[in-house]
This record gives sequence, structure tokens and C-alpha cells, in this order.
Amino acid sequence: MTTALVTGITGQDGSYLAEYLVGLGNKVYGLVRRDPGATSWLAPISDRIELLRGDLRDEASLDAAFRRAWPDEVYNLAGQSSVPTSWEMPDQTFDINVGGLARLLSIVERRRPDTRVYQASSSDVFGNAEGRCNEQTPLRPTSPYGISKMAAHRLCDAYRRRGIYAVSGILFNHESPRRRPEMVTRKITRAAAAWAHGDRTKVKLGDLGARRDWGFAGDYVRAMQAMLQQPAPKDYVLGTGISHSVADFVAQTLVELHTVKGDELAISTLEEFVEVDPRLLRVGEIRDSRADAARARQELGWEPDVDFPGLVRMMVQADVEALAR
Ligand code: NAP
Repeated sequence: MTTALVTGITGQDGSYLAEYLVGLGNKVYGLVRRDPGATSWLAPISDRIELLRGDLRDEASLDAAFRRAWPDEVYNLAGQSSVPTSWEMPDQTFDINVGGLARLLSIVERRRPDTRVYQASSSDVFGNAEGRCNEQTPLRPTSPYGISKMAAHRLCDAYRRRGIYAVSGILFNHESPRRRPEMVTRKITRAAAAWAHGDRTKVKLGDLGARRDWGFAGDYVRAMQAMLQQPAPKDYVLGTGISHSVADFVAQTLVELHTVKGDELAISTLEEFVEVDPRLLRVGEIRDSRADAARARQELGWEPDVDFPGLVRMMVQADVEALAR
């Protein structure tokens, strides 16, 4: 039986990955900073995973968790995952996103060098690249978050040259009902759900023209596991290859809201629902971002199942239902 240690197990990706690995029959340990509450996404599988206390900033806690789990595979999904927060706290972003991986890799090399390591890299490493990005696209990040992910990415390369099986999954944006509430997609679907329940507060957004390649997180975790089963370690880009603007996401949300709530809720223009807040416009904002995931499709046999309308529908329905509860 394969044993996996998942950092960031309480987050969006960590919770989907833990469900997937448990379903494959793996023994799953998760690193947590504090006990997840009863409403955590992990509650339905809580009897099939083991949680270990630890913090990416504290090497002793990581070492103790590693020795307890003695994992065949480490999935490093923990991170400071917000670009705006990375401008407010660049030092902590680096300590967690780069220092955390450095601590994990040195523990792996020292304790059990045959452990395979997956690192959660990000399309933000590409910055404002032209066209679709693949594994050969130059890394030109524009934010402390993107730069931290680039440094972690290079650290994986360096340990790979020392014989460690370490891969970076370069993931374009992936969302779900478990996305953090401050992220733009979830801000929109939560505001729409509130609107459906009578709260007519407009959602404040920044650049409505920024375009992202949005997929469903549950699809992406399958590829993370597949990346660690390959004969040799390699980096893989994951994304749908199609980008939509923030305005498109809002428009699709209003379509789905109408489907859920019917004519009782007619929002005819975007302006009724959205207020553009200049304070949310970001310097160095990535204008467009699209993946070329041909390598993952060919070598991992990976295809996302959920398309853009399906993703928005899932998020709107979940937020409407959550508010009704
Ligand atoms: P998320 O929902 O924000 O989850 C982050 C996880 O990291 C949480 O479990 C959090 O634990 C944990 N964490 C944060 N700081 C930690 C620390 N010092 N020590 C231990 N754990 C810590 O992020 P996500 O969307 O699942 O993303 C997973 C990873 O993929 C992140 O590294 C992110 O940067 C990267 N990524 C995400 C996307 C995306 O579109 N979602 C795209 C590319 C890359 P608490 O519950 O204690 O806060």
C-alpha cells in the first residue's frame, strides 16, 4: 500500500487529493497547523486519514511528521496561496512557499531519499507570457507569490539533479466550492448566492478584463498523483487551454443563478451586480493566462472532465445551498 503525506490537506486541493488517494486505497497522512473543525471538507473521510501537527516554517515539526508517516510520496500543497497577500507579506510568503519546500526536501534527502515529492507550482511563474504556456515557456513571474513559486520550482530541479524524485505541477487556476472565499471566483459566486437570498450588496471587483484559464480542482488532483507514478520525474503544466475574463465569469454566474432561482431573480446587466473598485486593480496584473497541457495529456492520459459552465454551475449551486442551510 502506498503511503502519502499531504501538506495543506485542509485547503481546497489538499482535501480533494486526500479523498482521491483514500479512494485509491492509499494510506494518507495530512499535515495540519490546527485541528480542522467539524465542518471541514475532511470530515467525511476523517476516519480514513491521520492528521499530524506541523508547520512548514518549523523544521522539527516537519521532521517529526515525516518520521511518523514515513511516506512513499509527499504532496506539498501547503502554501501562502494569495497574490495580494504576497504583496502585504512577501517575507512570510517566501518563508512558507520556498523555505517550507527547502525544509521538506532536505528531510527527504536525509531520511528517506526514495520518497517522491510533488510540489504545487503555479502558472504565476510565467507572468505575462504570450499565448499558451508549456513546460518550456520562460519563467518571468511578476509578484512575490509568483517569484516564490519560481524559487521552489528551481529547488525541485536542483534536488532532482541530486537524485531526488521531485516534480513541479505547474497548475493554472483551478476552483471549486472549496475555494477560499477571498479568491475572485468564490467572491463572485458567494455574492450571487447572497443576492439570491435577498442581499443586494454589489460585489466589488478589480480588473474585469483579466483573463484566466479556470478548471475544476477535483480534476487536477488526479494528475498530481499520476505525476508521481512516472518512470522518471518531470514537470507538467495543467490547465484547460481556454481562458475567460472575470466579466465572463460574472456573466456565467448570472446565467447559472437564473437557472437555479428562475425568473424571480432577474439581473439584466452586469452593473446591477458588480461595482468596480479601483483599489482592487493590481500593478503587474497578469492579463491573460492559458495552458498548453499537451505533455500531461499525452504522458499522464489526463483530461479535465468539468468545463467552464459546469464549474461555475457547481460553485453557484453549492453557495446557494450553503446559504440556505
Ligand atoms: P489553499 O486552499 O489556500 O490551501 C493552502 C493550505 O496551506 C491550507 O491547508 C493551509 O492550512 C496550508 N498552509 C498555509 N500555510 C502553512 C504553513 N505555514 N504550514 C503548514 N500549512 C500551511 O490553497 P489551494 O488552492 O488548495 O492550493 C494548494 C497549493 O497549490 C498552494 O500552494 C497554491 O499556492 C498552489 N496553487 C493553487 C492554484 C489554484 O488555482 N488553486 C494554482 C496554482 C498553484 P490552514 O488551513 O492552516 O490555513
